[in-house]
Amino acid sequence: MLYKQHPMKAPDDESALARRDALIAELQALPNLLRGSLTQLRVRCGAPGCVCARGAGHLKTHCQVRVRGGYRTLYVNEERREEIEGLVASYRRLKEIIEELTEANLELLRSSAAAPRAKVARRKPSNAK
Ligand SMILES: [Zn+2]
Repeated sequence: MLYKQHPMKAPDDESALARRDALIAELQALPNLLRGSLTQLRVRCGAPGCVCARGAGHLKTHCQVRVRGGYRTLYVNEERREEIEGLVASYRRLKEIIEELTEANLELLRSSAAAPRAKVARRKPSNAK
């Protein structure tokens, strides 16, 4: 465990610790992801005599993918739709985990700042930005 147990530790702290550990475990088990959002739209293929010329059009799915600050469009065929929905769902969950983990850590850091200081193992800073 990273944090030294304190005898006066509040129950809130215990729940924040439990949440933090559960979130880290979920983060580490997170499957592959894609930062994108799926949209469905109706299109007309332009073929003369096609049903889409008069009807609602063909249902197409595309995915707006954000890369390096820009957007790319990925056309999604039916065979791959579920797979890509899964990748996008995984990215959304990652964003939620970041929020929830930040909240839990903020709680823990605030309460440990109020309580007598616990020794926290220091790691060398990584090369990450
Ligand atoms: Zn058509």
